[in-house]
Amino acid sequence: MTYNAPLADMGFALKYGTGLAPALAEGLFGDLTMDDIEAVLGEAGRMAGEVIGPLNRVGDQNGVTFKDGAVTTAPGWKAAYDSWRKGGWNGLTAPGEWGGQGLPQVLNAACVEMWNAASMAFGVGPLVSMSAIDAFSAHGSEPLKRAYLEKLVTGEWIATMQLTEPQAGSDVGALRTRAERAGDGTYRIKGQKIFITYGEHDLTENILHFVLARLPDAPPGTRGISLFLVPKFLLNADGSLGKRNDLRAHSVEHKLGLHGSPTCTMIFGDEGGATGFIIGEENSGMACMFTMMNRARLAVGLQGVGIAERATQQALAYARERRQGRIPGMPATESAPIIEHPDVKRMLLSMRALTQAARTICYATALALDEAERGGDKAARQKAHDRASLLTPLAKAFSADIGVEVASLGVQVHGGMGFIEETGAAQHLRDARIAPIYEGTNGIQAIDLVTRKLPLGGGAAIEAYLGELRGIVEAVNATNDPALGWTGVRLEDAVASLERATRWLLARLGKEADQALAGASPYLRLFGVAAGGCLLARQALAALRLGPDAAPRIALARFFAENYSVQAGALERIVIEGAPGVLGADAVLSA
Ligand SMILES: Cc1cc2nc3c(=O)[nH]c(=O)nc-3n(C[C@H](O)[C@H](O)[C@H](O)COP(=O)(O)OP(=O)(O)OC[C@H]3O[C@@H](n4cnc5c(N)ncnc54)[C@H](O)[C@@H]3O)c2cc1C
Repeated sequence: MTYNAPLADMGFALKYGTGLAPALAEGLFGDLTMDDIEAVLGEAGRMAGEVIGPLNRVGDQNGVTFKDGAVTTAPGWKAAYDSWRKGGWNGLTAPGEWGGQGLPQVLNAACVEMWNAASMAFGVGPLVSMSAIDAFSAHGSEPLKRAYLEKLVTGEWIATMQLTEPQAGSDVGALRTRAERAGDGTYRIKGQKIFITYGEHDLTENILHFVLARLPDAPPGTRGISLFLVPKFLLNADGSLGKRNDLRAHSVEHKLGLHGSPTCTMIFGDEGGATGFIIGEENSGMACMFTMMNRARLAVGLQGVGIAERATQQALAYARERRQGRIPGMPATESAPIIEHPDVKRMLLSMRALTQAARTICYATALALDEAERGGDKAARQKAHDRASLLTPLAKAFSADIGVEVASLGVQVHGGMGFIEETGAAQHLRDARIAPIYEGTNGIQAIDLVTRKLPLGGGAAIEAYLGELRGIVEAVNATNDPALGWTGVRLEDAVASLERATRWLLARLGKEADQALAGASPYLRLFGVAAGGCLLARQALAALRLGPDAAPRIALARFFAENYSVQAGALERIVIEGAPGVLGADAVLSA
């Protein structure tokens, strides 16, 4: 089954879940209107559904071929990429001066969701390139940008992001790839990187590798890391492709999922050193890489949303067709479509609700990025920047987990057929499983949220966010609409739990940090079920105001609040009371 972009749900999340409507009204994006945004989304939906979607299975079944250092992607892959990049999708948010369209991040977020729903193995390549464009635009020198940036923006060339080495995964500071000053302003790069997404391929003539490496006199750890642009082909003076640089793909990995995307081991400097150009200052590579990683983290969250949406569409279609058993009162000669069984309904509703909650959290993060870039004054921009920083680990980890959870429910809805590759439900689960691992594991995201993001601005960012959630709860309670059931009560409790857990964690940072670390992942989930519930409720309230067709949005918000936000109380207990049981249980693990 192919993919139909859920334009109504995406539009509703954008307009009413994230606050895009007031942002447009206030002129944050000049004269851009919601109609313009919907037109772009409609086109993107067509590209995703008609061009990329049909290749998802082809990529999964054919994988990539590695021969003599060259990688060939699956049949149809290159033509689809060409058509996608010629549509201008790669440079949607990139600056106009470099060939981009300067459109909002929040609009691009919806598009990134669609590329990845259509095919996550396809979407992961552009995801890295778009993140590289952000970092390169912000930190690259003018001559370097003049030489390389435009072709990256147009998608004529693709980027890679190269951090990981065998001994340096989550601990990036342990990397050993060397960079030596060549004396002419360039550097010679030597070393090995592993697990590099689209490290080698046949989609574009040149590949721009963004590589973290260490100078000989660099301080240890992350303070001694620099970022280099290391092109596959160096350029002649006229900008045409010149000499092949001293780097190669050594092999491609055989993976659980994402078969259509090459994941490469890369070797730099077999012949004395690959030529690299520094981005930013020496030893400031992590700051530049963080620009890239933060965008990529949000995009990985959107991969979770995309795959969850695709799995949901497939499960719904199957549940309407497949007949098994009877519902009460049905004649013995008949059988019901499984969608009519309450347990299957519950699974499908979970899939829909989790997807829309994660989607709205991701879009809200993207809108905060836009406000940080374009907001009225410096103070407003800083506030929005802190909001985006706070929400990025949540968007990444919560949504990546939702991708796996929803894809797994999708398999379950299919019964035995879900475990058989033929239906495609299994591929969604296999593909989804990488999102909680790469771009900083979800465990690392939770630690980032607790130890770096909660203390932002002396706790001001989280306080402001809690205030916003409380405002939504008050509005829900004020409606008194019986269709919302326990929504107001459950959300009020959930936000109170989030608030107490937040204060408890903040009080432990420093001397009792290990207790905070033990509770970081359950806290992130608590944050997700509380915030996700409120954002769905905000959409239900908007639907109520709009009048007709409010019922599905109200039912979805109610389902999430009564089935997921209600878990916040237990998660609060895990955070606050569970740490000693984690930290004092070494006997279990050493037994
Ligand atoms: C398909 C694929 C594509 C990838 N693409 C790229 C790419 O393009 N570029 C790139 O540079 N890398 C890429 N990676 C690498 C990926 O980012 C790493 O695998 C990831 O960061 C985790 O590192 P690791 O595998 O070394 O796991 P480890 O760091 O060894 O982690 C193992 C476990 O320990 C936990 N852990 C580790 N340290 C801590 C800590 N301090 N506190 C608490 N828990 C901890 C982790 O959360 C995890 O559960 C890719 C990986 C895959 C599989």
